[in-house]
Amino acid sequence: MQQGDPLYRYHRQTLLAGFGAEGQERLGAGHAVVVGVGALGCPAADLLVRAGVGRVTLIDRDVVEMTNLQRQTLFDEADARAGRAKAEAARRRLEAVNSQARVEGVVGDCCARTAESMMLDGPLGRADVIVDGTDNFETRFLLNDVSVKHALPYVYGGAVGTRAVCATFRPPQTACLRCLFETPAPGSTETCDSVGVLAPVATMVGAREALEAMKILTGRADLASRSLLSFDPWLGERRGLDLGGAKRAGCECCGRREFGFLAGDRGGRTTAMCGRGAVQVSPESAGGDVDLGAVLARLSIHGAFALEEGVVRGEFAGELGDAGGPVRLTVFGDGRAIVHGTTEPSRARVVYAKYVGG
Ligand SMILES: [Zn+2]
Repeated sequence: MQQGDPLYRYHRQTLLAGFGAEGQERLGAGHAVVVGVGALGCPAADLLVRAGVGRVTLIDRDVVEMTNLQRQTLFDEADARAGRAKAEAARRRLEAVNSQARVEGVVGDCCARTAESMMLDGPLGRADVIVDGTDNFETRFLLNDVSVKHALPYVYGGAVGTRAVCATFRPPQTACLRCLFETPAPGSTETCDSVGVLAPVATMVGAREALEAMKILTGRADLASRSLLSFDPWLGERRGLDLGGAKRAGCECCGRREFGFLAGDRGGRTTAMCGRGAVQVSPESAGGDVDLGAVLARLSIHGAFALEEGVVRGEFAGELGDAGGPVRLTVFGDGRAIVHGTTEPSRARVVYAKYVGG
């Protein structure tokens, strides 16, 4: 391989034993869909595009904010000032990094209505692997439904605080996400917006997700990780759970093939409250008891909130509603919440996922 050869830029990678020009050509023919272009999706997409993955679709519903720049490595201050859509800002950046790659930015919500078409019939065609850059379990269970239903490999990752978790699911050969996790109770899940996140930890997860995707795209799925790895590099802790025996015959998703999240009959519901400029969000497991004290502690970082008579309510300092006024939030003991100041269900879901969790 010589200068002038289009594959020359990948020379250091093709030198690897067992990779070679053949691995490079397979990467060039591959298509990764990165769902969520945040702390995990930025490094994952960056590494995949630099490695020469031929088609990369980026899906994100959010815009760049100044507090993203600490860890979301594809964005800069100009993106935050302009409030650019993340999928679009990331696409521009990645096209400058590697003009050989076809990069598509999809500014939108990956939800029950859109998830299958986004993974199967997007502008760049059917995905070969789904890379998880999401920040909530509702979307992850949705991706897991798509993964199992269509036998699409799903590289799962998460980072909150100083902790990280990664796994690679390749249905039907392996367990799926739902074999491992039940639906978390609303308000019980910490998020980056409530407890923070350390950028190098998120970047480690994003890098690992890119690595796993590269194994799959080069036809070396046999090398994919076979464990659910959780680690805290800040505290120096590390645990692995062997996924070999984790597949449950009775799993609702991969066992019984019931795709409730995809059908829209599982997962949170939103109801616009006519005339009130508000949307009610009822999470998947509404009805359980939520620790409102913990919800209050997390919300208090972001505005003036109080717990009175079994309800947490208050307003955010930095979230503006549809009309430019503050976004107010009321959280009930059963996990339901009313987001005031917007009539957009998707916006209300984002506020709920960011600050209440689940
Ligand atoms: Zn399963």
